[in-house]
Amino acid sequence: MTNILLNRAQALCDARGARFTATRRKVLDLMLEHAGAISAYDLLDNLRATDPSAKPPTVYRALDFLLEQHFIHRVESQNAFIACNDFSDDHQLQLYICEKCHDVQEVHSQQILQSIYDQARMNDFEVKSQTVEAFGLCHQCRLD
Ligand SMILES: [Zn+2]
Ligand SMILES: [Zn+2]
Repeated sequence: MTNILLNRAQALCDARGARFTATRRKVLDLMLEHAGAISAYDLLDNLRATDPSAKPPTVYRALDFLLEQHFIHRVESQNAFIACNDFSDDHQLQLYICEKCHDVQEVHSQQILQSIYDQARMNDFEVKSQTVEAFGLCHQCRLD
């Protein structure tokens, strides 16, 4: 599964003329392998296992690149990041975050988005960006 996504990311980068360097690939790989959101600090720790010379800017530059390509998303409330589940072009999303196992589910609801923009229009407000993060318990954690 991870390899399919990495190959897909590679193909998208080739088509976009973007450089999918070994470090960028490794960071995405780590994120795909990781369940839930992961912080830049934890990514650096993991990266150092294979590349002891990795420094914070290495990770931040890779994260910026992956955000730009829409391969990952920022999880504002956790100050962390998740790998995207579809890699399509710039898309709006909502996140369901499990407070117990820290799993993060990405969903795409056109309806939620429309409500935000409709409300903004009614309040004469221009939305530049928006984040919807809901907290609770995932299916598995409710069973435990
Ligand atoms: Zn996504
Ligand atoms: Zn959970």
